[in-house]
Amino acid sequence: MSTSFQTLERPTKAYIDLDALAHNFHSIKDFIGGGHQVLAVVKADAYGHGAVECAARLEAEGIDWFGVAIPEEGVELRKAGITRPILCLGSLWPGQEHLIVENGLTPVVFAAPTAERLNSIAEEFGRTVDIHVKIDTGMGRLGVRYTRAGDFAEELKGFSRLRVAGLLTHFASAEDPAEDKFTLEQIEHFSEAVDAFVAAGHDPEIHDLANSPGAIRHIESRAGMVRIGGGLYGLLDDILVAPTDRPEMRAVMSLRSRIAHVKTVPAGESLGYGRTFFTERESRIALIPIGYADGYPRMLSNRAQMLVSGKLAPVVGRVSMDWTEIDVTDIPAAETGDEITLIGSDGVHSMTAATLAAQAETIGYEITCGISPRVPRVYV
Ligand SMILES: *Cc1c(COP(=O)(O)O)cnc(C)c1O
Repeated sequence: MSTSFQTLERPTKAYIDLDALAHNFHSIKDFIGGGHQVLAVVKADAYGHGAVECAARLEAEGIDWFGVAIPEEGVELRKAGITRPILCLGSLWPGQEHLIVENGLTPVVFAAPTAERLNSIAEEFGRTVDIHVKIDTGMGRLGVRYTRAGDFAEELKGFSRLRVAGLLTHFASAEDPAEDKFTLEQIEHFSEAVDAFVAAGHDPEIHDLANSPGAIRHIESRAGMVRIGGGLYGLLDDILVAPTDRPEMRAVMSLRSRIAHVKTVPAGESLGYGRTFFTERESRIALIPIGYADGYPRMLSNRAQMLVSGKLAPVVGRVSMDWTEIDVTDIPAAETGDEITLIGSDGVHSMTAATLAAQAETIGYEITCGISPRVPRVYV
């Protein structure tokens, strides 16, 4: 990191280590072993890391599939020249059928009206469209309920332009040993659904159940493909909390800024909105140009710490939209222009997305997804 104080632009930036991303991919792939394709989940701008850049690197590293939440995200990848298959995990909205066909995306389908619309567009284009059918085996969110799998398999036979190329399900609690019985039931229900589709005459060649914790903790769920999101970005610290054998994974995002101004404040003064903090002594307070509009959660007010010259400085007062204040009284050398680490390591200390997440009462995924577009991503 450069130590010179760049004044040309605001110094609040997210640094994305694409080598760490590649490392995590190979580490996870080695851990789960051969015979399973890997789908990289790059929805929500790759959990805030930048979908296009992450996908391009993963494609160069030999990834098999990509997963996005919505067709628009798939189109963005195609425009950027990504060629591997892209699964639209969140199905599609009426009117988006042409996006699927024109961009060669693979939709997840679990409702007959969606199948019907896709079938007519496929007819218009004179094409056959591959679909993956989502089975709800206990997540209780998207999917055909497993008890209805046979019926839906029959219904789909009426759409001559659609080919059921894959079946998938999603785990509710694969990270939690206390829920292992439930996860095993999900695996069982899925395998019954696969049988029902085969019995109805379909030939789905890709079966996938596992998210990151499933792929790591449940060998029997790896099947033909695993769908890895958080693991690729090194975000499993607060997901896989129970002791579990796991691949080595590194954080991909670090978040840094610089001190914009340092001031000395007498004892007994309040700082920031709502007057939630009062100085107990004469204090040196540093202003950091990041706020909740950048995705630094307001919940971190008076809770989080930032790293300055390898030392921890507490956030004092409310995090506001554009600014946060830290107390650097005990770091006398701290001055305007010094680099600040909000996520990442500096000296012996490191601050992870999981550290901030615990203080903000959420998970690391929400922290990195929430770093807003106002914060430039710098690829290193
Ligand atoms: C987001 C998502 C994943 C990835 O989960 P991680 O815990 O990030 O690995 C996998 N499958 C589906 C259907 C998802 O929506």
